[in-house]
Amino acid sequence: MLKTPPRAGFFLARTLGMLEANMETVIEPGWILPVEPEGVVLTQSGVAVKDGRIEAILPVAQLAASYGDAKRIQLPNHLLIPGLINLHTHAAMTLMRGLADDLELMTWLKEHIWPVEMAHVSAGFVYDGTLLACAEMLRGGITCFNDMYFFPEAAARAALDAKIRAVLGMIAIEFPSAYAGDPEDYLHRGLATRDEFRSEPMLGFSLAPHAPYTASDKTLSRIAIYAEKLDLPIHIHLHETLAEIEGSVEQHHMRPIARLHRLGLLGPNLIAVHAVHLKPEEILLLKEQGCSVAHCPTSNLKLASGFAPVAEMLAVGINVGLGTDGAASNNRLDLFAELRLAALLAKGVAGSAQALPAHDALSMATIRSAKALGLDAQIGSLKPGKAADIVAVDLSALETTPCYDVVSHLAYAAGREHVTHVWINGELLLEERRLRFLDGEHLASTARLWHEKISAAKH
Ligand SMILES: [Zn+2]
Repeated sequence: MLKTPPRAGFFLARTLGMLEANMETVIEPGWILPVEPEGVVLTQSGVAVKDGRIEAILPVAQLAASYGDAKRIQLPNHLLIPGLINLHTHAAMTLMRGLADDLELMTWLKEHIWPVEMAHVSAGFVYDGTLLACAEMLRGGITCFNDMYFFPEAAARAALDAKIRAVLGMIAIEFPSAYAGDPEDYLHRGLATRDEFRSEPMLGFSLAPHAPYTASDKTLSRIAIYAEKLDLPIHIHLHETLAEIEGSVEQHHMRPIARLHRLGLLGPNLIAVHAVHLKPEEILLLKEQGCSVAHCPTSNLKLASGFAPVAEMLAVGINVGLGTDGAASNNRLDLFAELRLAALLAKGVAGSAQALPAHDALSMATIRSAKALGLDAQIGSLKPGKAADIVAVDLSALETTPCYDVVSHLAYAAGREHVTHVWINGELLLEERRLRFLDGEHLASTARLWHEKISAAKH
């Protein structure tokens, strides 16, 4: 690990933060957008938080009567929303942001990303890159991310240190890497990591075969068995490019979705990442099988993969969530940007300004992503009993004044720079845009060290 030691004060602050999280707190914002029930915006109301959970959402007068002794946080210019959930990313790739741009997917992967990964990716790289990603995501209102990368045990440690919620992919890929030698080794190491961290309430695990073109029938069949036996989500890139589909037809005489269906991977546990190129019968198959889709509009545009048929998928009732993809193909881990782009693109692609209204775009970044991960009973909306994963967005900026409709502003006018406060499990992690428990200077100096190392090796 390329590390400079974090400042000592951060350890004390972390302990105090945990104590604070157990205290009763009442947050009184200008507006609350709970996401569930759909379309509701509350004013003159507040959220009572205790022991990391949302205890009540009540009118301010009632809160004063019931929670007289609680700590009060007044945010009259702010909108409270549930923490955003990033349904697809490769967090550690922050260390490769801007390394190679403006290239087709396979050129980008084969000539730039995979060689750097072969040379540099280690547990230290993944820890440092993931911690940097966690800092970026927290500052953008993201409280949970679904990851796919090598060394998930290092990503797990970074997520725990950042106090962010994460679902870690047990990656499987046919070719060897610094992490594992063959698919069996990948799965074995992934399952060992899951065993090591299974008592951590902030972490979950998925089976993450990289893509149909990098996983054999044997590997995919084994993953289908594990998914059923262990009741785990399957997280896989699927139908991202036309080249992927043509390659599958050539090699396997069927399209990737048909192949996954034959091998037993389609079902409510499947998170199909991208799902850009779909025939109408494939959309119906995904619906019939109860699969979820992780829509990543920026990555699809940047790699010229195509336009996902989001309005058609939503029309038949497929659960579609939202992801950023990795920082090397986006290049922002910014769900505000994704939800705005998703809402705009869906309209352009469907030829209808009514496609993907603002509230639906927000639900993709919250409750629908939670559902894809099987976490919708715990997170994804502001509801009594759920974890207090809460984000405050300041709507008093010049760019968001006046405000006729907070949902409209959230989708079309506000950005991640307007996120001021973030709580996860009731613990305040971002306060007035300042990360309370992560040392920004330390993160930046570590990232610069990796930059020097990777650049030196390239030349
Ligand atoms: Zn990806």
